[in-house]
Amino acid sequence: METILVLTHADETGSALTKASLEAVTAGKELAARLNASLAIGIVAIDATAAASALASTVARLLAVSGEPFAQPRYSTDAAALEALCRAAEASIVLAPASARFARVAAGVAHRLGGFVDTHITAIGGTDGVEATRWFYRQRVEAVLSRDGRPWFLLLDAGTHAAFAGPPAPAQVEQVAVELPALRTTVTGLRAPSQGTQTIRPDAKLLFVAGAGWTKKQSDGQVHAAEAGDLILGFLRTTGASLGSSKSLVDQGGEGQPVLPFLTHLNQIGQTGATPRHARGLSTCCHGEEPHVVGWRFIADRRAINLDPNCGWTRGKADVVYIADAFQVMAKVNSLLEAKKA
Ligand SMILES: Cc1cc2nc3c(=O)[nH]c(=O)nc-3n(C[C@H](O)[C@H](O)[C@H](O)COP(=O)(O)OP(=O)(O)OC[C@H]3O[C@@H](n4cnc5c(N)ncnc54)[C@H](O)[C@@H]3O)c2cc1C
Repeated sequence: METILVLTHADETGSALTKASLEAVTAGKELAARLNASLAIGIVAIDATAAASALASTVARLLAVSGEPFAQPRYSTDAAALEALCRAAEASIVLAPASARFARVAAGVAHRLGGFVDTHITAIGGTDGVEATRWFYRQRVEAVLSRDGRPWFLLLDAGTHAAFAGPPAPAQVEQVAVELPALRTTVTGLRAPSQGTQTIRPDAKLLFVAGAGWTKKQSDGQVHAAEAGDLILGFLRTTGASLGSSKSLVDQGGEGQPVLPFLTHLNQIGQTGATPRHARGLSTCCHGEEPHVVGWRFIADRRAINLDPNCGWTRGKADVVYIADAFQVMAKVNSLLEAKKA
C-alpha cells in the first residue's frame, strides 16, 4: 500500500501556495483515490496557516515546516525541510511541482532517503501501481515509467493538471521540526525584471511568437526593427500574452544583425528551446520550420501570420494561417485592442 505525499510551497506573498503546488495537490488527490492510498500534503512556508486553510477540503493529512529560514528558497534549508516532511509522512510516492525551488533540491532529497527521482512528469496513471508519463527527445517520444524502488519522487511539469481549488476553512496542521545544518547562504533579496520587461508568462492564455521576419528587409527595401519592437511590446502590454521567439531571431544579436532587445534565448520555442503550454498561440514572421514547431506540441489552437503562402505553417502545422503582412495586421490588431480598452 502506497503512502502518497504531495510537497508544496508558498508563493512570494508567503501566505498562498503557488499554482504549480496546487496542481500537484490535484495530481495527488487523483492518484490517492485511484490507488485507495493515504494522502499527506507537506507545506513549506514562513507560516503555513493561511496556505493550509486552502487545503482543508482535501481531507488529507497536512504537515508543515514553518519559520523564517523557510521564507526564501535556499538549497540547504529547502532540502532539510523536504527530507523532514518525507520522513514524517513515511512517504513511498512523493509528488512535487517542478518549480525552480523544488526542482533543484528534489534529487538531493531523494538521495538522502535512498530513493529515486523522475522529472518532467506530465501524467500519472495506473490502478494497480503507479505509471508516470514523460516525454523524451523534445516531446517526440512518450514513455510510461514504473519503478519498484521507494521512495519514488515525481516532479510534475506545470500546466499538466488543474490547480486544486477548495473553500478555505481552518485546518489542522502538524508542524514538523527540522534540524537545520549550519547556514552558509544568506538570502538578501530578489532582483527581477520589472513587470513591463518580463515577457515570459507561463500562465498566460496566449503565446505570441516573433520570428526572424520582423527584422528582415520589407517591401520598401528597409529594415523596420524599431517599429517591430513597438508593435510586439504594444500587443503584449494590452493582452498580457507571453512572448516566444524563433531561434533565428534570438541568434541574430550575436551575428551583428538588427535585433529586438527584449528577446533572449529564454524566449526560444522549439527543439532546442522551450515547450510551453498555452491555450492559444499566434506566430508572426516565423516560417514554421519543424525544429521550431516541435515546441508548439502542447499549444491547443495554433495560428500564424506569414507573407509566404508556402510557409511551413500552411503545410498542416497551424490551424489557421493568415497570408498577410504581420506589420499591418499587428498595427490593426493593436489599434482595435486600444479602442476596446478606451
Ligand atoms: C538541430 C536544430 C535545432 C533547432 N532548434 C530550433 C529551435 O529550438 N527553435 C527554433 O525556432 N528554431 C530551431 N532551429 C532552426 C529552425 O530550423 C529555423 O531555422 C528557424 O526556426 C527559422 O526561424 P524563422 O522562421 O524566425 O526565420 P526564417 O526562416 O528566416 O523565416 C522568416 C519568415 O518571416 C516571414 N516574413 C518576413 N516578413 C514578413 C512580414 N512582414 N509579415 C509576415 N511574414 C513575414 C517570411 O515569409 C519567412 O517565412 C533548429 C535547427 C536545427 C538544425
